[in-house]
Amino acid sequence: MPQENNNYIEIKPENITSGESPHYDLDKTPFDTVVIRCADPRFQNAFKKFIIEELSLKHYAPIIIGGGIHPFGSQVEMPTYLASLWGQLSFFINASKLTQIIFINHEDCKWYHGHKEHYPEANLSKKGKEDLIAAMDHVHNVFPDVIVRTFWAGIKGDQIFFTEIKKKQR
Ligand SMILES: [Zn+2]
Repeated sequence: MPQENNNYIEIKPENITSGESPHYDLDKTPFDTVVIRCADPRFQNAFKKFIIEELSLKHYAPIIIGGGIHPFGSQVEMPTYLASLWGQLSFFINASKLTQIIFINHEDCKWYHGHKEHYPEANLSKKGKEDLIAAMDHVHNVFPDVIVRTFWAGIKGDQIFFTEIKKKQR
């Protein structure tokens, strides 16, 4: 093989179970929904089951980051985080025929705890739910036709339960 002018080499993955370079099918199913949720591994099974089984979304684009939609509620204190997340989300809205966005926030979020210096007095569950409304408002201000649904994943004992958060009409 001629040496190309790269700063990398490309080899079969080392120490993998199959022993071969694995091949998988490209999934060409169209999607119309993006889901933004936290990366907390305690919640991933519940998030996936809720999305697939209860919301009947078999195929969607997940954006999974620590704190999920937290930047929408901390845009003054942490503006670069919002710029990054909004760049991701608006890319998907513009690049695909996106009609729906699902935002999920959850109880006992380590990311929310980790940035408590920005909101020392806040009840974190209340803030987490208010941030969902802030995220919904942010989307609707720019993309009024996109459907936004917002959910809260609470903890009761060893169980996770979901409620839908809706904006109170005043
Ligand atoms: Zn979290």
